[in-house]
Amino acid sequence: MNMVFFRITYSDKYRVATLHNYGCTFRCAVCSYRLRSGANGPPGLSFPRPERFLTVPQMKQALLSVPLDKVSFMGGEPTVSKELPEMLDFVKNTLGVKAYLGHTNGSRLPLPNLDGANVGIKAWDEKVHQQYTGKPKSLIFRNFEAAFHAGLDMKANVVFIPGYVDVDQVEAIAAWLAELSSEIPFHIMGYIPVPGQPYERPTDEQMLAAVEGCRKHLRNVAYSHLTSQQALDLTARDDRFIVREIS
Ligand code: SF4
Repeated sequence: MNMVFFRITYSDKYRVATLHNYGCTFRCAVCSYRLRSGANGPPGLSFPRPERFLTVPQMKQALLSVPLDKVSFMGGEPTVSKELPEMLDFVKNTLGVKAYLGHTNGSRLPLPNLDGANVGIKAWDEKVHQQYTGKPKSLIFRNFEAAFHAGLDMKANVVFIPGYVDVDQVEAIAAWLAELSSEIPFHIMGYIPVPGQPYERPTDEQMLAAVEGCRKHLRNVAYSHLTSQQALDLTARDDRFIVREIS
């Protein structure tokens, strides 16, 4: 897909620009982007289609206009973009700064000129993975492993959904990551109920069990346990979300 990036934000404090894309390679029923679109929205990434998209020259011009240490691509799923390889090349070789996929489902990794990626691993159970994402689990785990061995700075996260992606699966993912390295940062996000889906937000006890299970395997396990309201206003909780638009 050409022209999928529609917005560039910039953090003055962290000297990071983030390019946001529309569209995803998966169609997850429990996608958190559906928090805004409601029960009748389609599965997967379903916020309204942006009114305008940015051309490659517009993106490059915006990135040249600010001091940078890092550029992050996220969405949606940034690897749907046919322009991503050119932008990664520009970030690494013209701007000379770090290039990351700030959030990806891992369906297209590794990539040239990429320093690292934060992969949302959806499930450990093969059937759940297939049902959740419409894709086989092996694709994501193989890509993660290949990116790790290619020397990328890899992080992972999972949405903990009691009764669907339960503690056993979350812990199994942590154990698998630990076989690559026990230093891989892992973030567990407590599920935020998506309208029209049957699953509930984890209790404090369930959240603790998931975190403790993962800490048996990995040194760097963090978690978030937000309510729907908190998720819709992240700037109140984390200054990385205090940004301004530069395109
Ligand atoms: S991979 Fe992520 S962004 Fe894409 S549909 Fe699934 S949850 Fe949503």
